[in-house]
Amino acid sequence: MSFSLHGIGVSGGYAIGRAQLYSHERLEAPHYILRPEHVEAEVARFAAAVESVREELQGLQTHIPEGAPAELSAFIEVHTLILSDSMLSELPKRLIRAEQCNAEWALARQTEALIAQFESIDDDYLRERRHDVRQVADKVLKALMGHPGHAPLRAADEGESILVAHDLSPSDMVLFKRHAFAGFITDLGGTTSHTAILARSLNLPSVMALHNARAMIREGDWLIVDGIAGVVIVDPDPAILEEYRLRHNQWRLEQKKLRRLKSSPSTTLDGGHVDLMANIDLPSDVKQALGEGAAGIGLFRSEFLFLNRADLPGEDEQFEAYRTVARGMNERPVVIRTLDVGADKSVRWMEDSSVNPALGLRAIRLCLAEPQIFLTQIRALYRASHYGKVQILLPMLASLNELDQALALIGAARGSLRVAGIPFDPDTPVGGMIEIPAAALAAEWFARKLDFLSLGTNDLIQYTLAIDRTDDAVAHLYDPLNPGVLSLIEHTLRVGRKLGKPVSVCGEMAGDTRLTRLLLGLGLTRFSMHPAHLLAVKQQVMRSHVGELAPLARKLLRAGRPERIQEILARINA
Ligand code: PEP
Ligand code: MG
Repeated sequence: MSFSLHGIGVSGGYAIGRAQLYSHERLEAPHYILRPEHVEAEVARFAAAVESVREELQGLQTHIPEGAPAELSAFIEVHTLILSDSMLSELPKRLIRAEQCNAEWALARQTEALIAQFESIDDDYLRERRHDVRQVADKVLKALMGHPGHAPLRAADEGESILVAHDLSPSDMVLFKRHAFAGFITDLGGTTSHTAILARSLNLPSVMALHNARAMIREGDWLIVDGIAGVVIVDPDPAILEEYRLRHNQWRLEQKKLRRLKSSPSTTLDGGHVDLMANIDLPSDVKQALGEGAAGIGLFRSEFLFLNRADLPGEDEQFEAYRTVARGMNERPVVIRTLDVGADKSVRWMEDSSVNPALGLRAIRLCLAEPQIFLTQIRALYRASHYGKVQILLPMLASLNELDQALALIGAARGSLRVAGIPFDPDTPVGGMIEIPAAALAAEWFARKLDFLSLGTNDLIQYTLAIDRTDDAVAHLYDPLNPGVLSLIEHTLRVGRKLGKPVSVCGEMAGDTRLTRLLLGLGLTRFSMHPAHLLAVKQQVMRSHVGELAPLARKLLRAGRPERIQEILARINA
């Protein structure tokens, strides 16, 4: 019987194939009481299971396949850290001794207690980590129960399979590189979960948060995964299957055609050049950026160097990372954003007691409150400027006072390098992110003091519409086409043109092909996005005539009503 399931489309495109169920069901932990003389042997059995999982994770870490997403190593690291936490690796031993119970039972009880603690955390990102705790605990449980591990996955050449799982851990994702799945679907996972982040960088059609897919789908069922609409159709009627086969073939053909655009110039029909740059999180992402033909790095989110660790990266460590990117991009521009932690990106060394972290001490506010952290980073950035075309980008500016303070610290860092005789490029451009409505409205004052601006539309939309970008409950209200948002973008672009200062968009809007032509019509000539979207955006650029789009974009700005905006957008994209 055909039916459909609805979830969150995490990664675009369509996949059609047969379901391959992933044996990941929760294992039932048996419970029995031990004779006193067997207690120490049980403790040793538990310790051996933990050790075998640690070795498994280490093995994964040293055999990360070529081309695996850059985040994978960090995620395996997170699982290793969870495993090392005494809550999981030591407290069950105490329980075994205190209650003379078997290791599986002690582990299951301790896991539930730990997960309950995570569930009470307010911070979305941290709360999501309860899935990681569960995944690590399951691995230990399987090791204890002599579970053979995952059923061997079918080889890639046996036809297209769709992986159906209750949940997937980052280490499971290694298998995606070795077994060419057409897509995957899971019951669990929020948009900020590690698996969602990895899915996007693998660029596989996927739908998450389906709740009951694993229970309702049988091995071998035909599935259609619509990663665009977030829908899975199980056992589709022949007519639907045919329709999606056509869409899928079309999509595959388009993906293939896009590859040919890699070295084509990014120029509009009326001859305007458009810079298409890549957003990266780690130095190892440079390879993908170059592979997609990026003209430079438009946003290196440096905070990823600061996450998943208890200490701060020192000046030398940061310098090495920035230099690697600057050199790797071979004289192409590399915009490195200074530390933007706080809100959904929390770090262990920062006690975040904000009532509302998105409005709290984050990004530049935190750096100005902790100038030593900022100075260390700025010195590392200037040192790297000697080896490539580094540009410095300041996040979350709201007032000119903040900008003045930041510029004074930047001046001090430069002075200290000069005194020490360390080479750097004194002309390194310094830019600011426009992601708070006040900064957009006052863009002219910011632009006068800075070399360039970059519109962080993810936050600009969040703050303009008062919508928490991580909250599923209001996700449907998150609207890049809201007239308020568009006028702030348009105003900032106009200021840039007037003062001759480059303005880019580096939020998700830049990689959304439905918005490329509108942004071009508003005068944008510099886009920065996840490298996976770059060629599709280039295709749009090459098909656009800015002279014709500009009047339509102006019309859309004046439209006001959502239906009218959609109507004009359709004309822009026609
Ligand atoms: C943005 O806010 O649009 C942006 C690019 O920064 P981030 O997504 O890292 O907050
Ligand atoms: Mg931002």
